[in-house]
Amino acid sequence: MKILDGKKTAKIKESELLKRVKSFKKAPQLAIILVGEREDSKTYVKQKIKTAGRIGIQTHLFSFEEKMKQEGLIEVIKELNSRKDIDGIIVQMPLPAHLNPRITLDTILSSKDVDGLTTLNQGKILTGDTTAFIPATARGVIFLLTLNGVSLLGKKVTVVGRSLLVGRPTALLAERCGATVIQCHSKTKKLEELTKLADILIVAVGKPKFITTKHVKKGQVVVDVGITIQEKRGQRILVGDVDFEKVSKIVKAISPVPGGVGPMTVISLLENVCDAYGATHNK
Ligand code: NAP
Repeated sequence: MKILDGKKTAKIKESELLKRVKSFKKAPQLAIILVGEREDSKTYVKQKIKTAGRIGIQTHLFSFEEKMKQEGLIEVIKELNSRKDIDGIIVQMPLPAHLNPRITLDTILSSKDVDGLTTLNQGKILTGDTTAFIPATARGVIFLLTLNGVSLLGKKVTVVGRSLLVGRPTALLAERCGATVIQCHSKTKKLEELTKLADILIVAVGKPKFITTKHVKKGQVVVDVGITIQEKRGQRILVGDVDFEKVSKIVKAISPVPGGVGPMTVISLLENVCDAYGATHNK
């Protein structure tokens, strides 16, 4: 059984991006907006800032209190849209419940939408417009597979989950890579029949150890996108959507949690930032 090691694979991308950024006249600039005090969000933001620093991308963190108002958030984004020095803008999700994610995201200029989550960008992805920013996790999943020698061409891929953030763009991208895709969701019946059909099974549900031995068969490649934070003997641990211990004994290759899709998501976001810089500076 092969481990799809996201940490190692992300390092390959990291050295590519390091060279790319060195070829730029100036450092690409990424604005990160964080509203509230969620520990998981703070951790994800820290990882993004740290990796960006290693590559030479400059980050600007705008942190706001939980009670930040919608109008205030929109003003901040509009100001960042208008700044010529800012190449990319991301808003760390989820937002506090009183803030509307769609209104917030759609305020971001599509040319700076490096998370690829605006309606415009999502529409562009659907139409196959290659100038669209692909949401980082979807891009990261495909990189994790291809850089580990797993081609999607002609394969059967089952994606469990259909969120705009992960499931849907991952399915679209897999299809664009030549796979035949089955997309599953909470209303899917007999899920195990559809997951077993796949050569490549991608899971993005958000339910710890949801995929068990009954969902998989020998020879499959499994990508676990899920991350749930749990407490174990007083320590915070990350748990995936796949029962790794049992499933890894059956399948041909599997990504772990942590250390699988997570690092690939961060590096893919930073590649989107380089692409945003490249698009405005002809690089
Ligand atoms: P989400 O918006 O909650 O979507 C979950 C999806 O799972 C929905 O499409 C839902 O179906 C489907 N689902 C729920 N119960 C199901 C069931 N019993 N059978 C089949 N499908 C079911 O979550 P998300 O934003 O896509 O994130 C999914 C997971 O990935 C989370 O754990 C999140 O933390 C993680 N994540 C990881 C990374 C990373 O870098 N590794 C990045 C982003 C997210 P319906 O549409 O029918 O409700």
